[in-house]
Amino acid sequence: MKDIAEIRADFPILGRKVYNKPLVYFDNGATTQKPQSVIDALTEVYTTYNSNIHRGVHYLSDTSSEAYEAAREKVRSFINAGRREEVVFTSGTTGSINGIAFSFGERYIKTGDEIIVSHLEHHANIVPWQMMCERKGAVLRVIPINDSGEIIFEEYLKILSKKTKLVSVTQVSNALGTILPINKIITAAHSVSVPVLIDGAQGIQHGMVDVKAMDCDFYVFSGHKIYGPNGIGVLYGKEKWLTELPPFQGGGDMVDKVTFEKTTYNALPFKFEAGTMNYPAAIGLGSALDYVTGIGRVDIAMREKELLAYATEKLSGIKGLKIYGNSASKISTISFLLDKIHQYDTGMILDKMGIAVRTGTHCAQPVMDHYGIGGTIRASICFYNTKEEIDSLAAGIEKVISMFE
Ligand code: PLP
Repeated sequence: MKDIAEIRADFPILGRKVYNKPLVYFDNGATTQKPQSVIDALTEVYTTYNSNIHRGVHYLSDTSSEAYEAAREKVRSFINAGRREEVVFTSGTTGSINGIAFSFGERYIKTGDEIIVSHLEHHANIVPWQMMCERKGAVLRVIPINDSGEIIFEEYLKILSKKTKLVSVTQVSNALGTILPINKIITAAHSVSVPVLIDGAQGIQHGMVDVKAMDCDFYVFSGHKIYGPNGIGVLYGKEKWLTELPPFQGGGDMVDKVTFEKTTYNALPFKFEAGTMNYPAAIGLGSALDYVTGIGRVDIAMREKELLAYATEKLSGIKGLKIYGNSASKISTISFLLDKIHQYDTGMILDKMGIAVRTGTHCAQPVMDHYGIGGTIRASICFYNTKEEIDSLAAGIEKVISMFE
């Protein structure tokens, strides 16, 4: 693996100061910072070949279309999908889940059918299913969790039934960092012929994706969580499903023939890509995946594991600090609260020290309800962070505590 100083130099923003203090960025769960190569890829699009994709016969449009399709191939290879046709670009994880919830609902769901999610989901993997259930008269079932922040697998097996039409679960809890046992979840669902959607928003950047090995039916993620640009995401779907499902948006490029009487749709994956896609961001995402591959996914996972162990030990040693989410199977995210000190006060004081953490419910209100709390402080750590930064966080927290004493 590259030396940490070299890695950090790849990310220009990491060198900046906030309130005249070196920036310590621990909000990677919300969005990750971008390496120069991604910023350069975006600049290159706009300065040398920007032109709308798929529709032109001229040089710039050809170049743009080729770069967009090359990015699709990079995604295919990164997630190990069998075919490029199974990789649909969307606006992000939220866009992908809403799209599938709509199309799947239209095609397969009737009154009394059930969809299973877990208690650990981000709102993006709850609300679209609730909207679909409301439209179709279906029922949302929830896999409960224990106090370590893990799903209770036996309870999942109990609610998985003939009524279940789809299971949609996150790979990793954004609020607590828990890694879900998705292989077991998928195997159990498939044993009763139920398809599974995996929300990979917090899994993809920690090196954990191989859609063939997982055998998931759908896998979705956002570019901005894996060092890529905002406004781009991916919906992977097995060809069988994408062929059967109707499109979730209509417009240009997703059609074959349009008349006022009837419209036929384009081939996969274009059937699901209506209108002008965010092709510069897709190209930037391709560049981000190149970057991650260059650093090495195994090395990234190992480094993050080491940082998690270091941070857990450091923070656990602070009197009055309670960590939420203690699964043995976790990514490098630590959610915590300080005794009698509000999370917003903690977050705001840390901010003045140049330390960026996230405070609140992390778009996972049911997780907070489980613990009976209004939110947490979340430090989400990634491979470009350092032990010195974790020391600064620990020292910052001690200072917050001393200010309230
Ligand atoms: N799912 C999970 C687990 C997330 O952590 C997030 C974002 O934090 C989302 C879905 C939504 O992602 P986006 O806002 O990029 O669509």
